[in-house]
Amino acid sequence: MLSGSSVAVIGGGISGLVCANRLSQLGINNTTVFDTGKHAPGGRCSSRQVIIDGRAHVFDHSAQYFTVTDSRFAKIVSYLHRKGAVKIWNGKLGHLKSGKFSVDKNITQAFIGVNGMQDIPKCLAETLNLKNSTWAGNVSWEAASKKWRVDRHGYFDYLVIAHNGKCADKLMSSAGAPQVHRLTQVRFCHQPDLKDKRMQLCSLWALLVSFPTPLKLPFEGVHVEDTDISWMANNTAKLRDPSRQQTTSNECWTVFSTRQFGSRNKCPQENIPPKVEKEVTDRLLQAMKRVTGLAQLPVPNYTRVQLWGAAVPMNILKTGDECVFDGQHNVGICGDWLTSPCIQGAVVSGLALAERINKHYTGADTSSTVLVPDFVAADGGIIGAFPTDANMVFKPSK
Ligand SMILES: Cc1cc2nc3c(=O)[nH]c(=O)nc-3n(C[C@H](O)[C@H](O)[C@H](O)COP(=O)(O)OP(=O)(O)OC[C@H]3O[C@@H](n4cnc5c(N)ncnc54)[C@H](O)[C@@H]3O)c2cc1C
Repeated sequence: MLSGSSVAVIGGGISGLVCANRLSQLGINNTTVFDTGKHAPGGRCSSRQVIIDGRAHVFDHSAQYFTVTDSRFAKIVSYLHRKGAVKIWNGKLGHLKSGKFSVDKNITQAFIGVNGMQDIPKCLAETLNLKNSTWAGNVSWEAASKKWRVDRHGYFDYLVIAHNGKCADKLMSSAGAPQVHRLTQVRFCHQPDLKDKRMQLCSLWALLVSFPTPLKLPFEGVHVEDTDISWMANNTAKLRDPSRQQTTSNECWTVFSTRQFGSRNKCPQENIPPKVEKEVTDRLLQAMKRVTGLAQLPVPNYTRVQLWGAAVPMNILKTGDECVFDGQHNVGICGDWLTSPCIQGAVVSGLALAERINKHYTGADTSSTVLVPDFVAADGGIIGAFPTDANMVFKPSK
């Protein structure tokens, strides 16, 4: 039975899905999540399935793995583990500098989705009212009724903005909550400018490439020090199920560019000109050969490039608040760009906003968070933050 307030969550990435689940646990279960994802939710935590030589191959094309230091997140990871959605990545993971690989000793445990990172949002969305393939283009606050109208989808008591970038800025520009709109304004760059008070996001290119023969490299995932490449991972090794015999000799890799490369080669991400596609593919393959020190790369049997225009936040809220909430207009924001640029950051932000909405709904706290855009540089590397805590080792129960 539906009870409590109705909530519209715009964005089915990790923060939006976690927020909707927590609302439901708190008894607010009349929540609808709207997400643009055509096949599945997940946003920047998703995978791409590709048929190569007649067989399905999975590439993690955004988030690669995650670490855990927050006890609230640890509970969710335990749940995901029990549901068979995540596992510990035991492959060699580290850094590649001047052709030399070194294991990352700081990372006590890295987690991945069992069949790709897509398993995480898939599991989180299981019990939610999710509208896939749905773009929210217009939202407006109706002060008299204290309701949010979302396109033709009707009226809601609360609105959650669980996405960022130009979309959120545009969506909120005439929604009737100007302070929240100011917090969604964004600057795209490859280096944070600390004097600029807006959220700042970098752009990254992803190259998905399959080789017909293995590269025989001594690692499964590496953060790379290079002008063009920042990360490479062997999806085939990472997602291998040791209980099954391998049926393909193809090796599928994900390669991410640096921020500078992302800015230099920026173009409309929904409509990449063929010339740019070819140049970026060639440059990233050349860089892959250079950083691995291989004499020759096998000729790929599949390539695809993708631009993450709003890839990774470079700054986060200075106040330390884990979410934004406007108690006058019943609207909040959650996402990694408020807390920490990683899966854990998105989760804690989604949880915090759900708690805040519940307190507002029950009357326990009807105040707003600080609604002034003020950001500080975020910790972490090019593809996000990987916080570690040696005391927090997950012991999976059998
Ligand atoms: C290339 C890359 C590599 C990364 N690697 C890692 C990693 O290895 N480890 C790690 O921890 N983190 C990594 N990150 C960061 C991590 O992916 C994010 O921190 C996390 O997924 C953010 O989740 P979110 O819910 O805040 O936002 P998002 O995932 O961006 O979710 C927003 C969702 O809203 C949807 N949306 C947008 N506009 C609308 C609209 N108008 N209507 C409906 N839906 C809308 C989008 O489609 C999207 O699904 C990486 C990010 C990138 C880009």
